[in-house]
Amino acid sequence: MKSFTSLMNIIETRKNIRFYGKKCESSMDFFTKELKDLLRVISAVSRNMKVSAYLVGGIVRDALLKIPNCDIDIVVDGNGVRFGERLARRLDARIEIHKKFMTAALALKEGQQIDIATSRVEFYYKPAQLPSVESGSIKQDLSRRDFTINSLALSLNRKDYGEILDFFGGREDLKNKKIKVLHKMSFIEDPTRIFRAVRFEKRLGFRMDKHTEALARSAVEMGIVSRVSGVRIRDELIHIMSEEKPFNAIKRLQDLGALSKIGIMVRNGKDYKEDMEKALNSLCKLDQYDRGKILKWRLLMAIMLKDKTARSIELWCLKLKIRKKDMFLIKDTVTNMPKVKKALKDEFSNEYSLYNELRQYPVELLAICHSWSGGYAKNIKKYYKRLVHVKLEISGEDLKDMGYSPSPVFKKVLQRVYRMKFNKKVSGREEELIAAGILMNSYTHNSTQVRSRAR
Ligand code: ATP
Repeated sequence: MKSFTSLMNIIETRKNIRFYGKKCESSMDFFTKELKDLLRVISAVSRNMKVSAYLVGGIVRDALLKIPNCDIDIVVDGNGVRFGERLARRLDARIEIHKKFMTAALALKEGQQIDIATSRVEFYYKPAQLPSVESGSIKQDLSRRDFTINSLALSLNRKDYGEILDFFGGREDLKNKKIKVLHKMSFIEDPTRIFRAVRFEKRLGFRMDKHTEALARSAVEMGIVSRVSGVRIRDELIHIMSEEKPFNAIKRLQDLGALSKIGIMVRNGKDYKEDMEKALNSLCKLDQYDRGKILKWRLLMAIMLKDKTARSIELWCLKLKIRKKDMFLIKDTVTNMPKVKKALKDEFSNEYSLYNELRQYPVELLAICHSWSGGYAKNIKKYYKRLVHVKLEISGEDLKDMGYSPSPVFKKVLQRVYRMKFNKKVSGREEELIAAGILMNSYTHNSTQVRSRAR
């Protein structure tokens, strides 16, 4: 008798799967060997547990488009949590269970994550609010998805291993590069799908079909977008801004009227596009240096909000539940733009003053400043290339070792030695120690004199 694995191989390599109306390879052929091995294990567990398992979501869509994607989303026609536990044991993976949502997330030692869900059906009681969830069939599960191209599943079951389940014409829409909702209430139930539709349009070079676009526009006009919780809008915006070319998506959202519904007025779309393109270009250039933690989405959000006042940026960020740290960074980036524009126009000759000027600003602002080219770019480049790495080789500990007790004088002295280092007046630990010793001596000597005069 043939082993299970070799049987699966035979089934998997069958070339009888029809795609786009003609015979073509299985979408499995696009997967890496590691992924195929993993899917075989998932399949074996489903067979042992006598449940059906499917690969679903973006990975199936992308496999058919031959785009690499390693997000493994599994839907089980049965108890997804129990399935997850069994699979975790088999793969020696860490597991996190969300009983309420009937889901499990596995983290494999190699770093791969597997998300497992129980096939489910959703009920929307109120527009734009999260639905309640109950278990249902795989078809019901796929019917609750956002677009036809995301409603495809790949069977991991023995009888039709590797075959695509396509109940809603997803493959035809992939072929025609169309984004289509599954039903006319889709955007009303969940307006974040408007943002998702735009993201997929721009990422894949697809377009919403006429009907879907009309539904999106009418949902926007009805004001449904402003009813979605801030967190969900925030997540969608961050997703969009993390895409390769986010400005086209932002422009499209503006054309659909969705941006103004979330409090963003992009007055001159062309300017914004250019600013964003240039800033991203600078981000790539600064990447070769230790550019700190410039977050692309934060950078783009600051450009998008650049005409707002500090107070309205704060209010907007609070509404979208943007973390305080990110909010302050975005706000500082926007409010300091005019100051930086004035201060950094010409190349600085004194390195310490340049360092002192730049270290007070968020790194996002430095990337924007670099994108203004000329003196701005030169200053920023100098900062990253030469100044940002200058570090003292001595610390307060060394001053203590010299016999001084810690006091605010330590900070003053270290700052002055720092400045000397920048201006190339000292170099290396030995010279820093000598300079610090002289400065400590003069500071403490002066303060003793002041004290004795006061007495
Ligand atoms: P990406 O490549 O950007 O991760 P994705 O399609 O994998 O795209 P996810 O957000 O990971 O997107 O979602 C996985 C799947 O869950 C989607 O393919 C879709 O079927 C479904 N889905 C996600 N968000 C929604 C939504 N708001 N409404 C309905 N279905 C959704």
